[in-house]
Amino acid sequence: MTPDNLTRSFDCVIVGAGHGGSQTAAALRQSGFTGSIALIGAEPEIPYDRPSLSKDYLAGKKTFDRMHLRPQDFWGAREVELLLGRHVSAVDPTARTVMTDRGEYFSYGQMVWAAGGDPRKLSCPGSDMAGIFYIRSKADCDALINVLPDAQRIVIIGGGYVGLEAAAVFREIGKDVTLVESLDRVLARVAGEPISRFYENEHRARGVDIRLNSNVASLEGVNGRVSNVILASGGRIAADIVVVGIGIIPSVGPLIAAGAEGANGIDVDPFCRTSLPDIYCIGDCARLKNGAGIRIESVQNATDQATTAAKAICGELRAYDAMPWFWSNQYDLKMQTVGLNFGFDSVVTRGDPVSRSFSVIYLKNGAVLALDCINSPRDYVQGRKLVDSAARIDPAALANTSRQLKEIDLVTS
Ligand SMILES: Cc1cc2nc3c(=O)[nH]c(=O)nc-3n(C[C@H](O)[C@H](O)[C@H](O)COP(=O)(O)OP(=O)(O)OC[C@H]3O[C@@H](n4cnc5c(N)ncnc54)[C@H](O)[C@@H]3O)c2cc1C
Repeated sequence: MTPDNLTRSFDCVIVGAGHGGSQTAAALRQSGFTGSIALIGAEPEIPYDRPSLSKDYLAGKKTFDRMHLRPQDFWGAREVELLLGRHVSAVDPTARTVMTDRGEYFSYGQMVWAAGGDPRKLSCPGSDMAGIFYIRSKADCDALINVLPDAQRIVIIGGGYVGLEAAAVFREIGKDVTLVESLDRVLARVAGEPISRFYENEHRARGVDIRLNSNVASLEGVNGRVSNVILASGGRIAADIVVVGIGIIPSVGPLIAAGAEGANGIDVDPFCRTSLPDIYCIGDCARLKNGAGIRIESVQNATDQATTAAKAICGELRAYDAMPWFWSNQYDLKMQTVGLNFGFDSVVTRGDPVSRSFSVIYLKNGAVLALDCINSPRDYVQGRKLVDSAARIDPAALANTSRQLKEIDLVTS
């Protein structure tokens, strides 16, 4: 049934104006989609580059206007209607409508859900005090930047990429930084041990106090503002502010409530179709049912899935099989990752980490799955081919830096 207060109708409604949503709109036009397109986004800004938030933007090295994914006039020129500052709170797959927090209803012919994720919040006592920050949106980052001049002692909770990148920025501007990680190494969920130990050494050498195997029990405060982080071990770390980077929770509530299959992300097929008719899901909040069956949080994944969904909407069913890649910038270290190391059973370190230019190669049953390349763009470029072909190479040959990766013979036996 069509609601009486239907606001507008669009041939395609895209929910989420981040990396995936904006690329969906662009790819639809590139694929010849001539229908009307609405790009609905909760944030007030036009689509922007999210990874810069914990890197150059936080460091004050990049202004926001240099982070726009497309120039302002791009959207009008392609007749993409930007409906920003609106949060889609309900989806009705029978009426084919979405409802926003402003009480608007928009009907759709096709819908693409590209809502990313919300930062996972601390839940320990004291976690609702002032002085606790997350880095997911420009608004989050601006709030943090505003208090930095008055904050000297910063405690970061979480040793993932976002936490480590923020630690690097804070040390470069002279803050006292303590990083608390509950596991026995940083980056434990995403990288092999040599990468974790390398980054721990780098950060410690620059003065970051890294506390591994440390769980946060509570936060203490004065007048409602955080002042100490209390560890389960009883340790107490003084903090002017706390920055939390403990992952995201996929923003899928309205779609799950509408009946889409999924839980930790929406389940999608190789064409990014959900279990609901004419509704696609892409990016951080989509979980490909086949393959590794996991959600992937990267710009590459969001933009390539956007193209897959746009093509499918235009009638070109091409299964998603893009090569995963990722990057992280910390200090003068540029890490580039290619492939997914999920399920690896051995690693080869190629080059000496002390040289600050080396690669870690992940193998499963002898085949190359992925590479993490630190200040090694050549390994990254040449390694892509090894990942693509799941090359089987003698580990000793992989470790031998006197030969380039492209020159190494495959194992023939
Ligand atoms: C600080 C930081 C650093 C990062 N660094 C890197 C990096 O170096 N390399 C890399 O590859 N990846 C990095 N990432 C991850 C990368 O940014 C994400 O994987 C990518 O943005 C995912 O794109 P997406 O479109 O799925 O989600 P997003 O880009 O997050 O876009 C989702 C949008 O949907 C909006 N939204 C949510 N719910 C609703 C709703 N109900 N209604 C309307 N709008 C809604 C959100 O406000 C958001 O604007 C980083 C992420 C962060 C936060």
